[in-house]
Formats: sequence, structure tokens, C-alpha cells
Amino acid sequence: MTDYRRLRVALLGAGSVGSQVASLLRQHGDELADRAGATLELVGIAVRDVNAPREVDLPQELLTTDAKTLIVGADIVIELMGGIEPAREYLLEAINSGADVVTANKALLATHGPELFAAADQVGAQVYYEAAAAGAIPIIRPLRDSLAGDRVQRIMGIVNGTTNYILDRMDKEGAEFADVLADAQALGYAEADPTADVEGYDAAQKAAILASLAFHTTIPLESVHREGITQIDKSMMDAARKAGYVIKLLAVCERLNDSAGGESISVRVYPALVDREHPLASVHGANNAVFVQAEAAGNLMFYGAGAGGVQTASAVLGDVVSAARRHIAGGVGVGESTLANLPIVPIGHVTTRYQITLEVNDRPGVLATVAGTLSDGKVSIATVEQTVIDADDADAATARLVIGTHKAREQDLSDTVDTLAASGVVARVVSVLRVEGD
Ligand code: NAP
Repeated sequence: MTDYRRLRVALLGAGSVGSQVASLLRQHGDELADRAGATLELVGIAVRDVNAPREVDLPQELLTTDAKTLIVGADIVIELMGGIEPAREYLLEAINSGADVVTANKALLATHGPELFAAADQVGAQVYYEAAAAGAIPIIRPLRDSLAGDRVQRIMGIVNGTTNYILDRMDKEGAEFADVLADAQALGYAEADPTADVEGYDAAQKAAILASLAFHTTIPLESVHREGITQIDKSMMDAARKAGYVIKLLAVCERLNDSAGGESISVRVYPALVDREHPLASVHGANNAVFVQAEAAGNLMFYGAGAGGVQTASAVLGDVVSAARRHIAGGVGVGESTLANLPIVPIGHVTTRYQITLEVNDRPGVLATVAGTLSDGKVSIATVEQTVIDADDADAATARLVIGTHKAREQDLSDTVDTLAASGVVARVVSVLRVEGD
């Protein structure tokens, strides 16, 4: 066995991911040493309760509740506790004491990433976070390194497994949201409090991280437009299927060009209609995928497990090996590039296609009124499909109009839908969904 330099590795957290990282580090220690060029010595694992049951057997003597002492003298600190505090405090301490840090904490990076990156820059250390977006899928390095010579135009990601699992089952089984959510909770695919997933908060954090890398711009989480999937029902799913679409919760990060040659970016999370022929439509179950469109590279798709203890541990260990190699080689870490500093536009400026579903009074002239209102509002119709809902009583007859639009500005579209809703001819705006994936 080669006599490598020993690097002290401190692990903070031994839950779903941390316990697997500890186990793999111990199991494959020799192999990892050969790859890293250093022996990775796990010096301790900080937890809240050293007697809590663990998913894997870990030597009791490695467990401690004293994270602060563990950090002192570590060469690499792996943070897998989650949450903002004390994770932020511990990572800053680790960086300032000369360690490289590895984290999977998207909530922390999306809110305090710039602070951590600045602290690492100051001392020449590096923050590694491959597991923070889309779990096991390599996407941070491709965006940061492999595509560093290209210009990313757009990213469309299915970055939340829980919502993809729910929407996929609704699509396949014709089931209602609440029923599938309850099932997903029983099967462990959704948390008891599913808010972070179903309201799009988790996806928004990942969108901020990905957009920041892709567009070399700091993206405050507040600038990410976010909508969840709780309003998606069976009838919307059925209508989408009939029109050749599937509904997916997408994180869309896009470079926008104005007529004067200026550039800006939009980062948004919402449920959108995706053509069934699009590669993202074939992402089933709890899987994740990130579809990247770059100027020179063209279309790239990254697909796989977006979560799971052992799967995520793979990405964490990749970072640990990179951190070890850097530690051995010396030199300063690669900082985050945010110098492009592009302006981030609000959702109202975004241009996309829409599908508007309306219930209208089925009277002569209604279609013309709807078409006229859309045209006045600068929304151009691409397709219209009309279904009569209740024809027994001529006075009460209503029709369902499904209108596909050409690209329109979000603000124009939403103003026009408000005008339609107040026009007297529209009984109900059933849904307004964006169509993504051109
Ligand atoms: P988890 O199962 O809840 O485990 C958290 C661990 O951190 C536990 O071992 C806990 O100790 C320990 N901990 C929490 N607060 C602590 C504190 N103040 N001091 C010391 N230890 C503390 O979490 P997880 O699912 O492994 O997730 C870890 C991180 O990975 C999160 O940032 C998460 O967003 C990210 N991530 C997770 C997944 C996934 O599939 N789970 C995927 C991608 C990214 P006790 O065990 O004693 O309670």
C-alpha cells in the first residue's frame, strides 16, 4: 500500500446522506486514497444525539456532539446536517481554519452562498457542493468547469423528485393531487410537511444555485419566481395529455436578449406543459434531469437520481476526492465566477407560450370577443379548441375553450386574462399554464 499523506476529514451529520458517506469512506478507503493521492482519515462525526439509531453501523467512538472541536485541525470538513444555523457558522469556522469544505446544503448555499464563497476566496480555500442540486447527478462541475468556455442560454430542470413523482403518477393513473401526495408520504417520497417540495421552495433554491453558475451572476433567492403544484388537478392533467403535453415542475433559468443588445436573466420555478416528445417528458418517478442549452455545445441532458442517501453520498465523495487532490497539490481554490453580474428580470418580462383554459357562456359572438380581447392585449392565438359542456339548457350552456398562444409577455398575458375574467363572457378561468421546451 502506498504511503500517502494523511488528510483529516471531519463529518458533520450522520443522517440519510452522512451515514452513507461515512460508510463508503470506510469501505473504500484504500481505493479513494489511490484516487485522491491522500489517505482520507475520518477523524469524527458530529451529530445531535450520539445514541440515536443509525442507518448504518458506525464506530461509536467517532460520534460526538462537539462539532466545533472536531472542525479544528480538519483538512476537509463535510457538512451534511442541513438547515442554515449552525451549518453556516461551522462552515465559516472550517474555512477560516484552513479546511476545504464540502456541503450538500442547498438551503444554505441559496441564501448564504456568496458569504461562504467570499470567505473561501479570502483564505484560498474552496467550497464544493456537487450534491446541492439534483443529488447524484453531476451538474455543478459541468456548469462550472466543462461549460466554462461556452455560453449557457437556458437550463430547464426537473430538480425536485417528490413533485416529479406526484405529477408522474397523476399523469399515468389519472389520480388527484391529494391522493397521490398522501400515498407519496406513506411511501417516504414526501415529507410529513410537504411544503418545501410541493410549493417549489426546494426547486427554487436549486434554480438559484444553477443559474448562478450558468450565468456567472449572484442570484438572490428572492429573485427566483416560484409557484408550486398544489393547484394542478386531474382535469388539467387530462387536458394536457389530450393536447400532447405532460405537466412538470420546472426550474427555468434563461438568458434574455433585448433589442438593444442588452442581456438579462430570468430564473423561475413553476409547473409547465412540456411536449411529450421533449426529453424532459420522459423523466419518470422521483428522478431528476437537467436540460442545458448552450450556444456552442447545443442541447445537453443530465439525468438520474436527484436524492437518496447513498446516491447523494456518491456526489459528496466525488467532492471529497477533489478537495483532497487540491489540498495535496496546494494553490488557491477555484472561486465562484459572478463577474457577469447580469440583471435579473421579474416574471412579468418573461416571454413564453401559454395554454389558457376558459369556461365561457356558449353564445354567438363569445369566441370573437375572447379573440378580440387577446389580440388587444398583444396575445396572439396559435390554436383554439372548443368543447360544449352543457348543451341541454340553451341559456345555461357553457363551453370550454382551450387556447394555445404564440409567445407572449407574461405581464401582457396576465393583464389580458384579468380583462377576460371581468368581461362577462368568461364564466371561469380554469387554468393558465406556460408551455416550455421550444
Ligand atoms: P438528515 O437525515 O436529517 O440528517 C441530518 C444529520 O445532521 C443527523 O445525523 C443529525 O444528527 C445531524 N445534525 C443536525 N443538526 C445538528 C447539529 N446542530 N449538530 C450536529 N449534528 C447535527 O439529513 P440528510 O437527508 O442526510 O440531508 C443532509 C443534507 O444533504 C441537507 O442539507 C440536505 O438538503 C442535503 N441533501 C439531502 C439529500 C437526501 O436525499 N437526503 C439529497 C441531496 C441533498 P442526529 O442524527 O443525531 O439527529
